[in-house]
Amino acid sequence: MKWEESKKEIKELGKKSKHSYRYDLVKRGGNSAVMKAKKTIVARFYQLESGHALIAKHLLQIGKRRDMKCWWCGHEYQTRDHLFKWCKRWKREQKRLWVDGQEGEEGYEGVEKVLKKPKISLPMSLVFAEEKCSQALMDFLSCTDVGRISGVVEEAENSDHEESSDGGV
Ligand SMILES: [Zn+2]
Repeated sequence: MKWEESKKEIKELGKKSKHSYRYDLVKRGGNSAVMKAKKTIVARFYQLESGHALIAKHLLQIGKRRDMKCWWCGHEYQTRDHLFKWCKRWKREQKRLWVDGQEGEEGYEGVEKVLKKPKISLPMSLVFAEEKCSQALMDFLSCTDVGRISGVVEEAENSDHEESSDGGV
């Protein structure tokens, strides 16, 4: 009889351990800034880190666009570099990311200060790889639509779903 109870207990424990997954990752040396950020921001962070994100360069590679034009500022090549460093649409946010940083308890230093180099000589791969820059990058993502909006509404709209409008029953 007791066995049934303890089986239940074990089940409950299993459920609980799922909730502490984040905590475990931090304990194991996971990136704490990544752990604290919202799921959607984290998802965009990793997509942009790998380059498989909603940026024109990648969309061209997978055949979703015919060019690499930036849908925000019209620049010819919308690369990851362009969006994080040069795109005119996100000037204010870029300044905070690279130069100013953010004051306060949850604050962070600008990437140029952390890595002691101007942005022009810092490849994005290096910035993404540096844990000390994660928070600044996440904040940039939460303040911008970089990696969130595809600029190809008509193609992107249904790409995740099966067409079910013409016979759902
Ligand atoms: Zn742009």
